Amino acid sequence: MNPLLLDVPPAEWNLPPAEPWREKQLRTWVFERFASSFQEMSNLPVPLRADLAARFRMAAVETVKIQGSADTTRKILWRLGDGSLLESVLIPANPGRDGNRSGRLTLCVSSQVGCAYGCRFCASGLDGWRRNLTAGEIVGQVLGAAKIAGRRPDNLVFMGMGEPLANLPRLRAAMEMLTSPEGLGIGARHLTVSTSGLAPQIEELARVPGQFRLALSLHAGTNETRDKIMPVNRRYPLEKLIPACESFARAKRKMITLEYILIRDLNDSPDEARAVVRHARRLHAKVNLIPYNTVEGLPYERPAEPAIRRFQMVFRDAGVEATVRREKGHDIDAACGQLRLREEKAAFPS
Ligand code: SAH
Ligand code: SF4
Repeated sequence: MNPLLLDVPPAEWNLPPAEPWREKQLRTWVFERFASSFQEMSNLPVPLRADLAARFRMAAVETVKIQGSADTTRKILWRLGDGSLLESVLIPANPGRDGNRSGRLTLCVSSQVGCAYGCRFCASGLDGWRRNLTAGEIVGQVLGAAKIAGRRPDNLVFMGMGEPLANLPRLRAAMEMLTSPEGLGIGARHLTVSTSGLAPQIEELARVPGQFRLALSLHAGTNETRDKIMPVNRRYPLEKLIPACESFARAKRKMITLEYILIRDLNDSPDEARAVVRHARRLHAKVNLIPYNTVEGLPYERPAEPAIRRFQMVFRDAGVEATVRREKGHDIDAACGQLRLREEKAAFPS
């Protein structure tokens, strides 16, 4: 199979040396017009289009299905060149909150096919890990979604399938294309990398230039609770993880977000909240509380409303910012890995 154009350095695109403007034309088709084939690049000579098509693939992703939800979140299921399924979620700004004046569009992007980290509550890890995405496949989701939405997303969050920091070299190359003025030109501060807590890679990421953001999937205040749901915690327990996040916050002078999914009777006690408060204070972090999105075949549930309120109140009393994020797209399985899981089950019933 030919490589994706975006996985090959421009110096190796072998464009006619006497026509230096061709590279710019090609970039315009890719990053501004979201072209999915060389054929449609009408200002390139036909033989050049044919030559490029014989050597490279243009579109990283092919749309399998777009699932809309009542809140206008759209979940896109993609097929990659090797047949793997992948998903991204388009999330428009909450019209209730800002009257949709800003009309901002956020895209949730996947970084791997499957995930090796096996968090107990997560659909992405259920089938294990298949492979890393290439940089071109990561960027390809953004280009494909931009084509569907009719415009470039404003914000990108690496919260789809996979653990982005386990694919750091490709993630870095993708972030470069996404932020560079020669690429998509999205400001680095509009990119958020979410991790389950790979401490050494968090420190490595802190040394990567750019004002992008970090979200830590904390989900527990104590090692005891975290060990139960996130196997990664045995390798990088809180006493290693929190200092790594501290170095990120220091290096970037950016506020970290602590993601906290609330699971009934597991991590929703006020004591657990008090432990999270201590981490949040130390990191000067804000906290996103996300009521758990149930996954078919898994035993976890979201807490009842009063328990959610009680949990949030601990933060309010301590003066730590904690927002309950009503997971958008709840009705379309928008939590990571869920649509793909459903699709694979349908395709390969066990
Ligand atoms: N691997 C990275 C990024 C992808 S997961 C990470 O773990 O951070 C993105 C977020 O979705 C994580 O915070 C993850 O814990 C959360 N998540 C996974 N399954 C979920 C579910 N069923 N309901 C709500 N959030 C979920
Ligand atoms: Fe992987 Fe993140 Fe899901 Fe954990 S929560 S299994 S790290 S995708």
